[in-house]
Amino acid sequence: MSYLEELAGKVKAKNSNEPEFLQAVEEVLESLVPVLEKNHDIIKYKVLDRLVEPERQIMFRVPWIDEKGDINVNRGYRVQFNSAIGPYKGGLRFHPTVNLSIMKFLGFEQTFKNSLTGLPIGGGKGGSDFDPKGKTDLEVMNFCISFMTELQRHIGHYVDVPAGDIGVGAREIGYLYGQYKRILNSFEPDVLTGKGLTYGGSLVRKEATGYGILYFINEMMNHHGHSLENKKVVISGSGNVALYACKKAQEFGAKVIAMSDSTGFIVDENGIDFEKMRLLKEVQRKRISEYADMIPTAVYTEGRGLWNIKCDIAIPCASQNDIDVHEAQVLIDNGCIAVGEGANMPTTNEAVKLLLDNNILIAPAKAANAGGVATSALEMAQNSARMSWSFEQVDNTLKDIMKNIFKNSKNAAEEFNSPGNYIKGANIAGFMKVADAMISYGMN
Ligand code: GLU
Repeated sequence: MSYLEELAGKVKAKNSNEPEFLQAVEEVLESLVPVLEKNHDIIKYKVLDRLVEPERQIMFRVPWIDEKGDINVNRGYRVQFNSAIGPYKGGLRFHPTVNLSIMKFLGFEQTFKNSLTGLPIGGGKGGSDFDPKGKTDLEVMNFCISFMTELQRHIGHYVDVPAGDIGVGAREIGYLYGQYKRILNSFEPDVLTGKGLTYGGSLVRKEATGYGILYFINEMMNHHGHSLENKKVVISGSGNVALYACKKAQEFGAKVIAMSDSTGFIVDENGIDFEKMRLLKEVQRKRISEYADMIPTAVYTEGRGLWNIKCDIAIPCASQNDIDVHEAQVLIDNGCIAVGEGANMPTTNEAVKLLLDNNILIAPAKAANAGGVATSALEMAQNSARMSWSFEQVDNTLKDIMKNIFKNSKNAAEEFNSPGNYIKGANIAGFMKVADAMISYGMN
């Protein structure tokens, strides 16, 4: 049995009830086969054995009072996965599906993603099975205050710097930071990112993940002789990532014809009206079905089926395992040329294989959606310098970072005999820097 097979077996045995974590590990280990053949220190220093074990996992009770005055209890998490190249960094997800497996897969992936940005940030992730949907502002605030009352013991600007993810946006970050500041009696803005602009937030942070995905897709398309001009794009989701991916896709001249939410999807062959969609989802927090009530050419369909829509580029920006092998086959049959992963692990491992076998270009999540966390690191830089940069300055830096991520992923794929396989390229490029630091530290 090879070293990697043996390791994969151990990880499976130890984490047998964590399917998402095992899926994420399996994908990375597979990419690293050619790296291990060339670099023997990785095995000698047990880099991978160490990497698949989070440095620390924190789970805690989050009691909170609802509008009726009743006590509710949720579970809070922070998985501090890897601090080899910087403080743990990664978002908080508030969603009823959150469990330890999801937190660990996200923390694991974050380690490689953050390394790819070229900035000094380690990997972590946290959140809760609390569902902000349908809750009042007061309930969300009560929950955030209670969540931070425990979390503050474990974070700090040199230790761990959380941010948003699904269910955690500007409103939640405001409540969380307010409580952090109060408990510590200290204004330390670089302990959280995605903050409001009046208290240490950065311009472009809100747009950064969506914009970054399109900057990456644009680089990838150009490299393969394509452009985004007039391409039909389908985006899943309609949250922060999906919205700003839509905006930037339109700026590149593409036509976004469909978007979705957890209840269904809308199609408009004339193209989505970004501003109307933004108001509906970002400001009013309403269901996407209401978009079809406003726009006569838009059609709403309840349930799944978004990936049956014929498109040139699919950009899954909703959640993990959004495109399975059957949906991948439909995309291929419909002539899709590229998949840009906006969400984390939105494509199953089987679907990825099928897409690659059919020469579909894949912009992998760890690379393509790294613009969000990269801009978080720029927010931290501005905070510690007590400065704020202009929109152009942040946006230009983000563009450069995304170009570099593409270049490094492309070069690594080529160096290890898989040109055009950006999944492998991104995994290898992200891994090398972390591995190098871990080897330098000896055993920890
Ligand atoms: N949650 C985002 C991600 O998946 C952003 C994390 C951050 O800004 O720290 O990368």
